[in-house]
Amino acid sequence: MKFNDLALEAPILKALEKQGYTQPTPIQEKAIPILLKGHDLLGVAQTGTGKTAAFGIPILNHLCQDKTTGKGQPKVKALVVTPTRELAIQIAENFTAYSEFTNLKSTVIFGGVKQAQQVKHLRSGVNILIATPGRLLDLMSQGFITFKDLKYVVLDEADQMLDMGFIHDVKKIIAQLPQKRQSLFFSATMPKTIVELSKKMLGKFERVTIKPEQATAEKVEQGIYFVIKGNKTKLLVHLLEQRKEESVLVFSRTKHGANKIVKKLEQSGIKSAAIHGNKSQNMRQKALGDFKMGKLNILVATDIAARGIDIDELSLVINFDLPNVAETYVHRIGRTGRANASGIALSFCMAEERPYLKEIEKLIKQKVPRLLDHPFMEDHDVIEGASVKKPAKKQNSKKRNYARNNRSRKRG
Ligand code: AMP
Repeated sequence: MKFNDLALEAPILKALEKQGYTQPTPIQEKAIPILLKGHDLLGVAQTGTGKTAAFGIPILNHLCQDKTTGKGQPKVKALVVTPTRELAIQIAENFTAYSEFTNLKSTVIFGGVKQAQQVKHLRSGVNILIATPGRLLDLMSQGFITFKDLKYVVLDEADQMLDMGFIHDVKKIIAQLPQKRQSLFFSATMPKTIVELSKKMLGKFERVTIKPEQATAEKVEQGIYFVIKGNKTKLLVHLLEQRKEESVLVFSRTKHGANKIVKKLEQSGIKSAAIHGNKSQNMRQKALGDFKMGKLNILVATDIAARGIDIDELSLVINFDLPNVAETYVHRIGRTGRANASGIALSFCMAEERPYLKEIEKLIKQKVPRLLDHPFMEDHDVIEGASVKKPAKKQNSKKRNYARNNRSRKRG
């Protein structure tokens, strides 16, 4: 299938051509025809699949065909709610690109920065509003936004909204939207709370599922290094030194861990920056901007901060820590190999993380290739499962002493 087969308006086709899109990705191929017909949609898909265009193109197409759109001050007719600032900015950039040859106006609002500039844009009139929940509610309550004319709403990354504690804000926002509207609901996973929310938000809907393994595991070359905790940084430095020119995204499970990695890399003469929730919005944007422009090669991120980061040339993702939720692994490796490109994802796994690896392999239905040939390999790293610490089963002191002596014998 080609975009030309989708009966889209000429300015949108022109913009897609300019972006270099010729063929719809699987989610676009499934979702766009449903959305063009005006149906509600439940999309089970993650970022990196071409999800933004899957909802952006039909919305823009509807707005192009809407005869009232060009008359008078633009009114907010489409709303996209998304959990993180980075994602909001990225979606807004996509809408701007896809609507380049139309008269449609969009803007983005998010917290962590002063509101004046955002209010100014809203006052000048926009057709499409992309927002994070907190700032949106805030500006709604101050009377800067009205949804009287709203026709399309997208709730993006719903499961992430739940994780970040935004679900009540989201419910409050939805309650204030007109009943008659087209609703789109996207989530990478569907826990019970999210299923309930989707039922509240959607009318009669159609469902499109793009399985994570379809989206990522096939395209991304993966590998796992077994390594003890104390050797992880050395291995990271070693890998980064081998790939000096590449853009590398390093994942850390915690904010503190991300800062520590940056510090350790600096001690080895490697420049990097961390992005996570404790950094100011400006610092995060600067780091991300430098990374996107190629001024900075290494970005260290936590999952929430990195969700949805879209960088064209990102060839390598390194999981410094394995995530304890298997789906997160799929999200992470999806940062490379976006749309139809291929990429590499390397993960570090210490003994305590082996159970996580098992869960990941169950989810992606494949074994991640073991990369056993690295300079920081300890003997016991090779034996899979053997060195996994079982959760605290009480040992009597005799056994404990035996185990301790045995360990020190081995080390000696
Ligand atoms: P998303 O999942 O929306 O974040 O999209 C992931 C990446 O795929 C972005 O860089 C998009 O610009 C790109 N993309 C989306 N749709 C297509 C397409 N049909 N052809 C090529 N690239 C695409």
